[in-house]
Amino acid sequence: GQKVVLITGCSSGIGLRIAVLLAKDEKKRYHVIATMRDLKKKDKLVEAAGDAYGKTLMLLPLDVCSDESVKQCINSVKDRHIDILINNAGVGLLGPVESICMEDMKRVFETNFFGVVRMIKEVMPDMKKRRAGHIVVMSSVMGLQGVVFNDIYTASKFAMEGFCESMGVQLLKFNVHLSMIEPGPVHTEFETKMMEDVAKMEYPGADADTVRYFKDVYLPSSKDIFEAMGQTPEDIAKCTKKVIESRNPRFRNLTNSLYTPIVAMKYADETGGLSVNTFYNLLFNFGPLMHITMSILKCLTCSCLRRRTISPN
Ligand code: NAD
Repeated sequence: GQKVVLITGCSSGIGLRIAVLLAKDEKKRYHVIATMRDLKKKDKLVEAAGDAYGKTLMLLPLDVCSDESVKQCINSVKDRHIDILINNAGVGLLGPVESICMEDMKRVFETNFFGVVRMIKEVMPDMKKRRAGHIVVMSSVMGLQGVVFNDIYTASKFAMEGFCESMGVQLLKFNVHLSMIEPGPVHTEFETKMMEDVAKMEYPGADADTVRYFKDVYLPSSKDIFEAMGQTPEDIAKCTKKVIESRNPRFRNLTNSLYTPIVAMKYADETGGLSVNTFYNLLFNFGPLMHITMSILKCLTCSCLRRRTISPN
């Protein structure tokens, strides 16, 4: 029969694309429960789903930051039966740590880390009972490697990776699979929202040099990297579909081969010096010469630092 897939954060970006791709599956193998905080934002998804809406795709409200909302949502699913849970909802946060208030940092953890924990806690017991299920988590390359001025976002994804690494062992005993998807940059509202937040920033508590490194060195390089290396949300949706359709799903799934050297460096030098120094040089020495940075990364990708990724095709 049809597999019930519940996805969080479907009003935009990657979540929307996964919902549409699965709902439009030619063999109609999926019953998609696309969830979002605010159903008033459903139009883009409904339009993209076309005929599938009301057939293989239905909507439910769900805020991953609320115990109440998560409980209500899962209780309203028939028999609470979910075959595949896709934890996609997430928020970004960019800027010098000195100038970010604790409340904003906690909000990121509340969504990216505790949001995932809350969902898994609610759905996992039924999966364990049935000795079947697949939990997918949208992590990031930044769940594996820290990136300058993304300190808090990176920490939230690391926290989640640690949680999943621990959970995966126990779940295996119950025949429940756990997979993380680790995209590099993806062109979604995520990027736009962060840039809008940055434009409003006033940097209280940060010194002039730090602000300059952030605004004049980091931001332009980051924009170039997004443009040169970014994937589409459709790409990530295709990778995710591959992961859930795999008979033996992999635990970690990088989606962008251009980013694999970053991860390889970390494992190549356990002292951490190689990663820290390479990032330092990329930002402060090559940053302004982005085309050189790109060629270096592309070269590394062709060498022994290439690692297996999951490709959209
Ligand atoms: P997006 O902003 O388009 O989508 C995120 C979605 O999560 C939005 O629809 C938002 O409304 C929703 N959301 C936020 N807080 C929520 C909450 N409390 N409850 C329910 N939904 C909530 O961005 P995206 O790029 O599609 O991001 C999806 C996931 O992919 C995130 O977890 C993000 O960290 C991850 N990711 C994104 C990129 C990228 O470059 N865009 C790269 C790697 C990983």
